[in-house]
Amino acid sequence: MAKAKDPRTVAASNGVATDRTYGAVTPPLYLTSTFAFEGFERGRGHEYTRTSNPTRDLLADTLARLEGGAGAVVTSSGMAAVDLVLSLLRPHDLVIAPHDCYGGTYRLLAARRDRGQFDVSFVDQGDQTALTTALRRRPKLILIETPSNPLMRVVDIQAIADHAKDAGAKVAVDNTFLSPALQRPIALGADFVIHSTTKYLNGHSDVVGGAVVAADRTDAEVLSAWANITGTTGAPFDAHLTLRGLRTLFPRVECQQANAMAVAQFLARHPFVAAVHYPGLDSDPGHAIASTQQDGFGAMLSFELKGGIEAVRRFVEAVEVFTLAESLGGVESLVAHPMTMTHAGMEAEARRAAGISDSLVRLSIGLEAEADLIADLERGLAVIGAPSKPKGG
Ligand SMILES: *Cc1c(COP(=O)(O)O)cnc(C)c1O
Repeated sequence: MAKAKDPRTVAASNGVATDRTYGAVTPPLYLTSTFAFEGFERGRGHEYTRTSNPTRDLLADTLARLEGGAGAVVTSSGMAAVDLVLSLLRPHDLVIAPHDCYGGTYRLLAARRDRGQFDVSFVDQGDQTALTTALRRRPKLILIETPSNPLMRVVDIQAIADHAKDAGAKVAVDNTFLSPALQRPIALGADFVIHSTTKYLNGHSDVVGGAVVAADRTDAEVLSAWANITGTTGAPFDAHLTLRGLRTLFPRVECQQANAMAVAQFLARHPFVAAVHYPGLDSDPGHAIASTQQDGFGAMLSFELKGGIEAVRRFVEAVEVFTLAESLGGVESLVAHPMTMTHAGMEAEARRAAGISDSLVRLSIGLEAEADLIADLERGLAVIGAPSKPKGG
């Protein structure tokens, strides 16, 4: 086998110029639901697209290479990817999940728990005592999200994976916020890496998709079989677009995180900002672990405004470059209010326990000019201090 290529080369060129029919440089999109047999009892390797499709398989192969896994399954969404990993569990198996996980993951775990499909314990994984206590309950699966959404808390994947192995649990890391360009959990001991490819991997806000990469070949085969059974595999067209987006993953993430650092430093100095959550800042509690575990600090950050929810309303209505929308990881900058948007499905109690305040604002930093982003934030923050406009007017 050829020497393993640099991940940048894999992202830019895996599968390029391999078309033997016409020599197409760009891998063709196989937009077909079914494949003709060569003859009776003679299939050609692909039979039906729910089971396998060359375009989707190339995306899976590229993701497996980038994450250093043995195989990958491409799913129809990030939630389908999380659910695929959960399919390994049986009634009474215990999952340890972060208390501040992605809102959709929280909802899925709670819904399946309420149907008796497994047990869940939401734990602050940065709290060593809480984690040790949870591990004594012999969980089957530990779900990790680092940096977490939306507070950008960082946990030590290797340390948790070591403890999990001792307790006999598998470890799955949701790597959506950093992508394999900045963090490779399998090298740190994870068994599974989960992605919402909707975010940085596709990077252009025009596809909803997901993937699970498995460190072990047998695990990859089990997941692949299950995705075929339940029909949660992704569409070929989506795989083609995602692969096209993935070609530029590294340069996008590098530019976006440089912008994010500038934005974080600007916000940290602003008098109307009570706190900034960005592991790239020296003062951030996650800075030390992030510096060793990650190849960069990423382009997501959140901050707390002074002045509560009314200040949030004024801010999001005043910004023009930032679009008020859920999701993240695209080339365009977005602003979201977790309490009323991404985390609205979480009960107020759970939200408070996770530290998500009413005045927390989340930013996904895009590829716009740094000066325009900062000028826009300045515009948004300036109106917070201004007196209220009279109603009606
Ligand atoms: C968006 C997201 C998901 C869910 O992915 P979808 O593609 O929206 O289904 C899961 N985890 C994280 C961290 C996310 O940001």
